[in-house]
Amino acid sequence: MTLLEIERASKTFGGITALEDIDLKIDKGQIVGLVGPNGAGKTTLISLITGYEPVSSGRIFYKGNDITKVPVYKRSLMGITRTFQVPQHFKSLTVYENILIPLLLRDSDTVASKRAYEIADRMFLTEDLNKEADSLSIGKLKLLEIAKAYASNPELLLVDEPVGGLSADKMDALIETIRGLRKEGITILLVEHIMKAVMSLVDKLVVLNFGKILAQGNPKEIMCQQEVVEAYLGEEYA
Ligand code: ATP
Repeated sequence: MTLLEIERASKTFGGITALEDIDLKIDKGQIVGLVGPNGAGKTTLISLITGYEPVSSGRIFYKGNDITKVPVYKRSLMGITRTFQVPQHFKSLTVYENILIPLLLRDSDTVASKRAYEIADRMFLTEDLNKEADSLSIGKLKLLEIAKAYASNPELLLVDEPVGGLSADKMDALIETIRGLRKEGITILLVEHIMKAVMSLVDKLVVLNFGKILAQGNPKEIMCQQEVVEAYLGEEYA
């Protein structure tokens, strides 16, 4: 079943064309990897899907409904949630409180509190629960970013560069965690530069280059395409 469909979406910022004629489908239960060089338009695409930025043209459908003009908070209530490359936590609140806030929108105090502990455990944040969020390392802040997004009960989770800043063992654990989220039925769009993480997780790979889709499909096949190797993966894989 198609969960999200983007039809000829473009985005310009003043004179800059960040995205041009993007056609993309994400099926329920998939992990889709979105890769491309710096400035290719990956974060902008996340912003269009979540409604943080309006499209300049084109349309976005979620479960068959046109959500192109639906505001961010309503898309969030529909189950579309993102993380940010630069973590967006409440700086002076504790890790526990940051995770608790989205949970309290749905659950009673007792249920939300229990769930906050479970989510922290899953995201390797148990020992940090009582720390002020702003005192965390960048790696831990990225985990908190996912924990907060997960706490809002997403159906489609858009994760923007979660791996950077994590140690190798934390990276492997995070990969397992993302796989676990999918097992729970969460569909994931993963933006990530670290190809080891991308290739070990995704069912479908989409390569953006200069705001256009250069290739999309089976990750291993895409990796073999000459234009992809040249445009993006050349240094590491050529
Ligand atoms: P990175 O891998 O470095 O995060 P990216 O692929 O996510 O890059 P975007 O951040 O989406 O790329 O940027 C795409 C283009 O749009 C870039 O040229 C960027 O400068 C431009 N851009 C993005 N957001 C804005 C904005 N709010 N105002 C003006 N230009 C923007």
